[in-house]
Amino acid sequence: MEQRDIIIIGSGPAGLTAAIYSARAGYRPLVIEGPAGGQLLTTTDIENFPGFSEGISGPELIENMKRQAQRFGTEFLMKEVTVVDLKVYPFRIQAEDIDFLAKSLIIATGARAKYLDLPSIEAFRGRGVSACATCDGFFFRDSILYVIGGGDTAAEEALFLTKYAKIVNIVHRRDKLRAEKYMQERLFNNPKINIIWDSVVEEIKGSKTGGVEGIVLRNIKTGEVTERAADGIFMGIGHSPATDLFRGQIDLDEHGYIICSEGAKTSVKGVFAAGDVRDPHFRQAVAAAGTGCKAAIEADRFLQDSILLP
Ligand code: NDP
Repeated sequence: MEQRDIIIIGSGPAGLTAAIYSARAGYRPLVIEGPAGGQLLTTTDIENFPGFSEGISGPELIENMKRQAQRFGTEFLMKEVTVVDLKVYPFRIQAEDIDFLAKSLIIATGARAKYLDLPSIEAFRGRGVSACATCDGFFFRDSILYVIGGGDTAAEEALFLTKYAKIVNIVHRRDKLRAEKYMQERLFNNPKINIIWDSVVEEIKGSKTGGVEGIVLRNIKTGEVTERAADGIFMGIGHSPATDLFRGQIDLDEHGYIICSEGAKTSVKGVFAAGDVRDPHFRQAVAAAGTGCKAAIEADRFLQDSILLP
């Protein structure tokens, strides 16, 4: 079984920053990147990552970070991590058919989009129901679309979808958006965007062959139920952390996020966490990169201290 000083799970800005710092500290970190790719791979324009005055696309930013990590000796493995055992030391990490031992582990598995908990949402997933405008928007030319949610994710998805759709309806359960002010202004100024306030989704209608054909909405103030034509429904209701692999082995908060020290220490010595998997509040690429840096520095200190131990 191959033993490594540092294994990093996840290849978003957190994992890649941890890799850059670990590699520059003289380790040969291994980054295990899942098959789904991180959230930035489906982000079109990032206008707030410092250093890119004209903005940069998500995939380009990730590619740059990857090259930078490789330049200093990071290795990448594209496999899904299937088992993590933190009760043994060195920790055991199984990635499909390969087993590794790790003296320190950096968890940067991120978060994934939430879907509404409705049987009809599940039934039409991939057939008109999506949580990724950049992946699926292209298939909805001249369509009538709905984006569920009132935060920045919903706003971003809706704005992106206006490139293709005839109209994009945002369905929000309150009468105020949670999205940042400048995003709200973009929504209000876009003639293709219509906001349906105080409303929730009751059901998605459609057929096996045609996919989504309609949406049933309920106004929570008046109780009125309406059915409208729909070609596509996009989720924009937030994210949940990818921590299933670590449940029961490491301290998580009530929403499943990893509980960390001010730096990146978790409840298990030698295990560090970076990025959205430990951050329910900020969820920004630059914040993820920041905690990736902290995780790498703390992993280095941990490894140095273990060498000094008798
Ligand atoms: P948020 O938690 O901010 O927003 C989720 C939205 O979905 C809220 O409006 C919420 O309604 C609604 N919602 C949640 N659950 C349900 C449900 N079951 N039914 C109906 N509506 C529901 O998540 P986001 O993913 O939008 O953003 C998270 C963080 O990431 C934020 O800090 C945001 O700023 C950041 N972000 C930044 C971006 C950027 O800068 N480009 C892009 C995307 C995200 P309610 O308001 O009533 O709670």
